[in-house]
Amino acid sequence: MGLIVQKYGGTSLADSEKIKNAARRIVKEREQGNDVVVVVSAMGKTTDDLLALAYEITDKPNPREIDMLLATGEQISIALVAMAVQSLGYPAISFTGPQVGIITNRVHQRARITNINIDKIQTALQQGQVVIVAGFQGASYEGEITTLGRGGSDTTAVALAARLGADVCEILTDVDGVYTADPRIVKNAKLLSKISYDEMLELAGLGARVLHSRSVELAKNFNVPLHVRSTFNSKPGTMVVKEVPEMEDIVVSGVAYNRNEVKLSILGVPDRPGIAAELFGALADANVVVDMIIQNVAADNMNDISFTVGKEDFETALKVTQEVARRLKAKDVIYDKDIAKVSVVGVGMKSHCGVAATMFRALAKQGINIEMISTSEIKISCVIKGEWCDKAVQAVHSEFELELEKAANVPR
Ligand code: ASP
Ligand code: MG
Repeated sequence: MGLIVQKYGGTSLADSEKIKNAARRIVKEREQGNDVVVVVSAMGKTTDDLLALAYEITDKPNPREIDMLLATGEQISIALVAMAVQSLGYPAISFTGPQVGIITNRVHQRARITNINIDKIQTALQQGQVVIVAGFQGASYEGEITTLGRGGSDTTAVALAARLGADVCEILTDVDGVYTADPRIVKNAKLLSKISYDEMLELAGLGARVLHSRSVELAKNFNVPLHVRSTFNSKPGTMVVKEVPEMEDIVVSGVAYNRNEVKLSILGVPDRPGIAAELFGALADANVVVDMIIQNVAADNMNDISFTVGKEDFETALKVTQEVARRLKAKDVIYDKDIAKVSVVGVGMKSHCGVAATMFRALAKQGINIEMISTSEIKISCVIKGEWCDKAVQAVHSEFELELEKAANVPR
């Protein structure tokens, strides 16, 4: 007998039949004697539809009102899931994020959870209820409704699992688990039975959309075992766990891609201290999250600086960069909206060399030009032209032989 947190994503709740299916799964846990806290996303594409509606009204919807609007999506799901569980003969109660004491900071549309008051959940669990909580939402201390960023229900689930000391946090989704690459692009991608928090964190941040990055970060910090599996079958799925030494034998665990970034370049800025600080300071002040950065020094003591930002930040980033460019008397600001970032991730990179060379070779063989490179201890990312994305992912996946069982993917 334990405590399990289950999170159901939008596709798992897309219609009433699917909601009933989720309810049967929830009840199964209950029958096995477990306490269950369920976190739900909005049904199907509800969040997208609500956003589209907002943009039909105005190009610049107010972030506070966006949160007010989007939070309704999850509120529909909690009520319906509670009814479905009740109709199977089990007591269940639904709560919104604010109702259940999920406190966040005040940054609308990308709020962070700062505190959770679990009294209400614990009382309901003690009464034998299945507790159903709206994911993705919370409230600031002032009572303002906030949301945690797209995909944020995962984060609600992990935060609750951590706070409640749950035995496991199950992420129930429309795929069987975490693959070596997106199976829609790489036909022979392999399901991973296990992956470390750090690898998952990189993959999530790099565009593998199974899990919200922040949720993996939280799971790592609080050591919450995360279990990613399908809602629609009982296959074993993928466990996201603490790194163990054997994991280093596998050099590359997966390939990820992200087509959601834009590259901006500021050309011809003076090569002197303080320039990068001024540019990236201004971007930070405007709340723009910068990902990759490269700086080229030209012969005449002038620099070009290129960087990438998420598409959603593009307009702001462009405006800020143009302002900085005027101040610095830079030659020009240019951008490219059609780029892709392809990355390989693996804890084994720490102890093997030649991984970058293998990746570059895979791209070179396909005649794909690399525009930017960045590396960390366990990842290598390349920015390329958007149109080459699928081909690059396939080439890299096969160069590392990730399709092989227990791929001994040490670079040759
Ligand atoms: N419904 C929200 C979204 O679509 C949150 C989530 O699904 O996790 O982003
Ligand atoms: Mg989701």
